[in-house]
Amino acid sequence: DLVKDEDLDIMQDLGAGNGGTVTKVWNKKRKCIMARKLILVDAKPSVRKQILRELQIMNDCSSPYIVGYYGCFPVDVHVGIVMEYMDATSLDHIYRNTGPVPIDMVGKVAEAVLRGLMYLYDVHRIIHRDIKPSNILANTAGDIKICDFGVSGELINSIANTFVGTSTYMSPERIQGAPYTIKSDVWSLGISLIELAHGRFPFSDSADEALDFDPDPTLSASTQRPTLSNKPGNPRGGARAMSILDLLQHIVNEPAPKLGTSRRDFPSEAVEFVRGCLDKDPSIRQSPQELLKSKWIVDSQVTKDQLKAWTRQVAPSDD
Ligand code: ADP
Ligand code: MG
Repeated sequence: DLVKDEDLDIMQDLGAGNGGTVTKVWNKKRKCIMARKLILVDAKPSVRKQILRELQIMNDCSSPYIVGYYGCFPVDVHVGIVMEYMDATSLDHIYRNTGPVPIDMVGKVAEAVLRGLMYLYDVHRIIHRDIKPSNILANTAGDIKICDFGVSGELINSIANTFVGTSTYMSPERIQGAPYTIKSDVWSLGISLIELAHGRFPFSDSADEALDFDPDPTLSASTQRPTLSNKPGNPRGGARAMSILDLLQHIVNEPAPKLGTSRRDFPSEAVEFVRGCLDKDPSIRQSPQELLKSKWIVDSQVTKDQLKAWTRQVAPSDD
């Protein structure tokens, strides 16, 4: 039996992104916490119905690496999607609040994302299209899962018409107009892993490349993470941010970013793995299958208990 909007009591805001707002909700019927995403869909009723139909594929998506799905419904001008609540939040929140992610944990994030991508592609022929730290979630059971994948073509269209995407995790070939492939997701994973390990988005002015994370809560998100953003209250720009065109041009024309800064060293297996994700030529870039066989993933010593301990350490305190 699928969840309805009237079953849900609003608890608190979890965040807002491109075209969506996510709320922690209490499901009165099932007596458990869930997360509800509302997506503003600027489309006529027939398109809205089509979107809700297309989202039904999510009913068949079941994997330990995919955030659970409970249902969707129209909510006035929005489409509501109810999903599993992930109590350690998203990886972008985690690193902004607690600093760079320990490299061994970054390895477990990489493995979970790859297994999630392979599940979506092998079982459902779905390409994610939006891998980034805010779409990688963790819970205090030590699970790492991905969400917000492109199941509905109509939904992708309706959002694209309303919002200019934050294309910062976009691969060079996508920027140049090539169709999405699973290799584009691999590029986005590589960029995301660097961001988590460094504690900052890799494309920004090189002058402060070695800047260490400063968990000063008075710093605004745009200061800590100098990247473009059109989120409200997080104005695009700032002294160290690149404009969208500079950024896209940079991704296409400059060498791919690397794991490691002048101040911080990482294990060579991790550096090698990220290099494999970030070949600018998608035909040379590694596939998820190849990456899962890499030394960094296979030789990882991190146990589920250690992963659980880490997620408990970084999860927001419950108040
Ligand atoms: P974006 O992914 O672009 O940041 P979203 O609207 O998809 O924007 O999500 C907003 C925020 O809500 C995310 O950054 C994440 O921290 C939080 N969030 C999304 N889904 C969940 C979930 N299932 N459980 C807990 N937090 C979530
Ligand atoms: Mg998201």
